[in-house]
Amino acid sequence: MRTLPRVLIVEDEPAIAELIAVNLRHNGFQPTWAMDGATAQRELDAVLPDVILLDWMLPGESGLSLARKWRANARTRQTPILMLTARGDEADRVAGLDAGADDYIAKPFSTREMLARIRAVLRRRVPEHAGGQVTIGDLHLDADTYRVSFRGQALKLGPTEFKLLHFLMQHAERVHSRGQLLDKVWGDHVFIEERTVDVHVKRLREAMGAAGVMVETVRGAGYRLTGQVQVPSAVGQ
Ligand code: CA
Repeated sequence: MRTLPRVLIVEDEPAIAELIAVNLRHNGFQPTWAMDGATAQRELDAVLPDVILLDWMLPGESGLSLARKWRANARTRQTPILMLTARGDEADRVAGLDAGADDYIAKPFSTREMLARIRAVLRRRVPEHAGGQVTIGDLHLDADTYRVSFRGQALKLGPTEFKLLHFLMQHAERVHSRGQLLDKVWGDHVFIEERTVDVHVKRLREAMGAAGVMVETVRGAGYRLTGQVQVPSAVGQ
């Protein structure tokens, strides 16, 4: 028997949570409801869901802070997080993505949109499980142990930046448009804006430190990872 994908709904408003749960159940998902971060944490400790739907405004710890915490935790690091937010403006969306959310859904949202986004993050997870090791210059990525290092120094990357770097390293020296990256890294770009790619490229570069220069912007074309640049040694650190 196929197990139904588990969705943890972290939402303090019972009416909204109930509506989401009913729709998920009718569409072949197994929803669980937590009304705050502490309850959600107990659920996560007991059973790891396939997706977390995380409300931004919660009593106690905010959704943003929970996303950050779960991203930093080894057990939940790879679990997709969709932020539910009434805050539609760009700065807030970027803050959500920066905290480690995979995507966001702006309230009010339609059931169809929510289901499509959940399915998209579930699909996206699959290609990433292609393991293996890639080395470009002094940059080394091990997809089996989920580690990246540059000149022997470990780099800390979020899950999306890791996937992005893995893809760029597997296809180094080639230029990829934002649309291609959405296709190959995110796996579904129906609801994701191309600007999202820029946000993650920026985060990737920051996380790579000096080696960030290896991720090149090719004007009017997209991005490329290259081993052909001189990466300066860290000075005074
Ligand atoms: Ca709320």
